[in-house]
Amino acid sequence: MSVEQSSSSVADRHVDVVVIGGGPVGLAAATYAARAGLSAVVLEPRVGTIDKACGEGLMPGGLQALADLGVDPPGHDLRGIRYLARGRVAEADFSGGLGRGVRRTVLHDALRGAVDDCGVEVIPLSASGVTQDEHSVVVRTAVQSGAGPTISAAWVVAADGLHSPTRRSLGLDRDQRTRGSRDARDARGAREHEPGDPGTEGDSRRPGRYGLRQHYGIRPWGDHVEVHWSRHAEAYVTPVADDLVGVAVLSRQRGPLTDSLADFPQLRERLGDAPVVTSVRGAGPLRQRTSRRVSGRVLLAGDASGYVDALTGEGISLGLAHARAAVSAIAAGEPDAYERAWRAATRRYALLTHTLVQVTRPSWGRRLLVPAAAALPPVFRGAVNELARPNP
Ligand SMILES: Cc1cc2nc3c(=O)[nH]c(=O)nc-3n(C[C@H](O)[C@H](O)[C@H](O)COP(=O)(O)OP(=O)(O)OC[C@H]3O[C@@H](n4cnc5c(N)ncnc54)[C@H](O)[C@@H]3O)c2cc1C
Repeated sequence: MSVEQSSSSVADRHVDVVVIGGGPVGLAAATYAARAGLSAVVLEPRVGTIDKACGEGLMPGGLQALADLGVDPPGHDLRGIRYLARGRVAEADFSGGLGRGVRRTVLHDALRGAVDDCGVEVIPLSASGVTQDEHSVVVRTAVQSGAGPTISAAWVVAADGLHSPTRRSLGLDRDQRTRGSRDARDARGAREHEPGDPGTEGDSRRPGRYGLRQHYGIRPWGDHVEVHWSRHAEAYVTPVADDLVGVAVLSRQRGPLTDSLADFPQLRERLGDAPVVTSVRGAGPLRQRTSRRVSGRVLLAGDASGYVDALTGEGISLGLAHARAAVSAIAAGEPDAYERAWRAATRRYALLTHTLVQVTRPSWGRRLLVPAAAALPPVFRGAVNELARPNP
């Protein structure tokens, strides 16, 4: 993706807002924009129902944000979070209502329905560059044979995911220099990480954290998101339907999901010989840092605006809050208000998630975490509910 400073080229079409990326955050942003009376289009190269590597647990705050959009996807109620390690268990229930395990495909269809109901067009094209001046932004698109049509807009919401090409092209990626070859590969279009790629995390030279997920056709055995801790990985288990459970493994170590699951005997026993019903999907490195979230008339939202880790299962809820805040800043013509709102929405999630990832980096931290959480129920409950509550 390329970026230029002047939007002098003649566009094929003009709207108030171009949303780059038709994941949950982009679709939510487009819906909010239409509701605010703004004309909007979404650019999303993947056609049909979109699946993605995800733990698929919606926190109560995220569910409320979806309800605000008139979206109520079916799934499996979640009562809280349970941590398990070597026979120890710590459990905390959500105090502000239930969460829900929802298959990504179901969530996508529900949000896509809301976009369609608002009359917003989702154009099956990839954004290949943005050019802006003080009045407008021109978004160039790519088709297989070369350049596609251009769309000019007053504003762009870039919700193009963890490895956001828009973020990179605008120089908003804080760790740009450390990534080398990933940049070139990601810039070629929208794609998820494939298991087996090497990677670094943020500005450190230590290996980054990656996530893999798969689904099992089995009746859920509880109403909590279970996080199983092993020496090198966490497996988190989310019931997403009456006969379906998702397992996501997060780790710095790379390898097939089946190898990682060998470290979780209790979970393997639970899964028994349940059939595997989806293929493995992966994503990472998870940590992505941004220097700013607003560049002129382009606002970054969702994972594109930065990401800490999937461990606390907060990404969708947070991204929905970004989408709402970005559109209200646009509607008010005050993009800088978005920067403030983004910080307010992201602060507690970033602090708690980063702290948890750091504390559990050394082996002694991993050993002590679950016994400590079990010994201090109010602390564990407090942390879980800090993450679960609605965003401002
Ligand atoms: C293993 C794992 C487990 C997780 N578990 C949870 C969980 O339990 N709960 C939770 O809330 N969150 C979880 N998350 C985080 C959650 O998946 C993300 O926060 C969420 O998907 C962010 O949505 P998004 O719309 O910002 O990005 P995405 O869902 O990644 O969507 C981005 C979209 O942009 C499109 N795109 C990319 N480039 C371009 C381009 N150039 N032009 C046009 N479109 C483009 C892509 O095709 C894609 O559809 C997890 C993440 C991982 C990796």
